[in-house]
Amino acid sequence: MINETKNPIPFCVPTITGKERSFIDGLLDDPSSLTQGAYNSKVEAWFQKMNPKGITKTTKSCTQALELTAQLLGIEKGDEVIMASFTHVSTANAFVLRGATPVFIDINPNTMNIDASLIEHGITEKTKAVVVMHYGGVACEMDAIVEICKKHNIPLVEDNAHGIMATYRGMPLGSFGDISCISFDHQKNITCNQGGSISINNKSLLAKFESIYDLGTDKANFLRGEIENYEWQSTGSNHQMSELSAAFLYAQLEEADMLTKQRLLSWNLYHDLLKELVIRECIALPYIPEYCKHNGHIFYIKTNNAPKRDELIAFLKTHEITALFHYTPLHSSEFGKKAGRISGSDLHTKNESEKLIRLPLYHEITQEQIEFIVDKIKLFYS
Ligand SMILES: *Cc1c(COP(=O)(O)O)cnc(C)c1O
Repeated sequence: MINETKNPIPFCVPTITGKERSFIDGLLDDPSSLTQGAYNSKVEAWFQKMNPKGITKTTKSCTQALELTAQLLGIEKGDEVIMASFTHVSTANAFVLRGATPVFIDINPNTMNIDASLIEHGITEKTKAVVVMHYGGVACEMDAIVEICKKHNIPLVEDNAHGIMATYRGMPLGSFGDISCISFDHQKNITCNQGGSISINNKSLLAKFESIYDLGTDKANFLRGEIENYEWQSTGSNHQMSELSAAFLYAQLEEADMLTKQRLLSWNLYHDLLKELVIRECIALPYIPEYCKHNGHIFYIKTNNAPKRDELIAFLKTHEITALFHYTPLHSSEFGKKAGRISGSDLHTKNESEKLIRLPLYHEITQEQIEFIVDKIKLFYS
């Protein structure tokens, strides 16, 4: 009976706070409320408070928010967009869909984030955006990156899918780029199963953004009472999140402090318990630069080489623990080889990504489960 609730240990269980049901019930009890968008407004107001510099709107996914970003920046065939190859496929896809070439920059092996010191080397006259992704909610080197983008007058985009509630020098991730995008998919710290948001921090993009966001119309001006009718102005789409999803999401945003604290407790427990294996040079642990407050989005370890990683994943599986690797670098994928190009050389991306294992981490994971997982990892190395 001891293992009754312990095993199997999945990689991720979507976060539920308990308040989602009552918010959604409220909408179902009063169907006209479904058309009024009160929860979408509450979500947007929450972000307004968190990042006063930006205007935030909900989207149906982070993928969609990134696609909207590419359209908003006027990305066209022949343009180049700088990013790390160690990222989610949507970071690149959004721009490739518009005909751009992703130019992949190597990562800093300590953080797995784009190496800021290599970005400038990748810039050409065709570069139309720099896209950074804060892996595991650990910030990229934003001072240097903002500086480079300013110097070359290139828009900066944050794929902030991992970064909600995390900061860089006290400022929230997602507040540095001209545009930033968040994901609320089922694996993210705060979720509505499928959803996203986009923040526009550069006011000069706002008018065009509003039109794209609302089917290519000038409805936003109409709703503000600035014009008498609204009509089709340009190309756009239906980007807003469903009100049901927004209710689900808002239930979690209200608990964002608690959810982040809880996650960090689990993250720190892993970190403390696994230190011993670092001393024995079996594994490496994540490094958090002093300028970052992260959000415990991902707990990973690195084995000494790729075969060891595969062995450890298989070993954990025999103990009903699901641990996963992450990401297969885009530049080495079948499509990535055709669609993109690498700037400089790949000193770290392939090597480091091949050693990385993500351990189970989710809101409901217990101290006992983490201790059990760590025991098995120690057993593997004994
Ligand atoms: C999850 C994720 C996405 C995609 O988010 P969706 O909301 O599922 O579309 C994009 N980029 C990164 C870095 C992600 O982790």
